[in-house]
Amino acid sequence: MILWLVLLLIFILGLFIGSFLNVVIDRVYRGEQFFRGRSYCELCKHTLEPKDLVPVFSYLRLKGKCRYCNGKIPLMLSVVELTTGLAFAGLVYYLANLPGMASFSVQLIPAGIFYFLFLITLLLIFFTDLKYYVIPNIYLYFLAGIYLVGGLVYYVSISHGGVLGTIGIQFLSLVSFYVSIKGHLISALVMGLFFAILHFGSNKKAMGEGDIYLSAILALFLGSVLSIVMWFVSFFTGAVTGVALVLVHRKKLKSKIPFGPFLIIGFVVSFLFGSVLFDLYLRLI
Ligand SMILES: [Zn+2]
Repeated sequence: MILWLVLLLIFILGLFIGSFLNVVIDRVYRGEQFFRGRSYCELCKHTLEPKDLVPVFSYLRLKGKCRYCNGKIPLMLSVVELTTGLAFAGLVYYLANLPGMASFSVQLIPAGIFYFLFLITLLLIFFTDLKYYVIPNIYLYFLAGIYLVGGLVYYVSISHGGVLGTIGIQFLSLVSFYVSIKGHLISALVMGLFFAILHFGSNKKAMGEGDIYLSAILALFLGSVLSIVMWFVSFFTGAVTGVALVLVHRKKLKSKIPFGPFLIIGFVVSFLFGSVLFDLYLRLI
């Protein structure tokens, strides 16, 4: 019961974070400073009041139209908010249900921070690529930085005893990314190389440069087996979506579809169900 109450609160918190991410997505893409200036309507540039900024609800109350210019508010804004709310609640549910983990123990905090920073960066990449067909480098640096800092925290804490050591061990049981560094580095290299060949081999048409680095960093987190699952799921979902969009005439055969979102879908599916899927595959062949 308490868990569901917490999940509801986290979901609502996520809606507001999602509203903030909408601002970050646009301002980082345009190279503006995202912590300065109030939010404004994209169409008439009118500064928005707090009552216009309640995630999802403002959109529903205004029936998707700007209060000042009557212009259409992009539905994407609410999609980002809802996705962030659901993703946040999903992450807390995941952390609370890990085997052998006392729900909401203090020792979960370092790994919790790690996961939330990681999730937020993935959401920013997902929706920036979907909206603008580009993955800003700053997000990629941030993602790689999270991996490095996480590894540092892990190695420093396990080499100490006491409370710090316990946190390190808990951290490891949650974040198994640092078990075999060599395997993870090789996965990253192979994955990056594969996407680099697609990118340069197709005259930069089939894959963006951002996909090279994104796929490599995600493979760094997953290691070899789970990277294969990510690779397969991202190409499968990408192909199915591409065919579906052509069939409903939303896209032409030659039009561009960003691949970053599919890499991230592949990553999440592999992270959650990768070992199950891989076993299933091995049993089939
Ligand atoms: Zn307006």
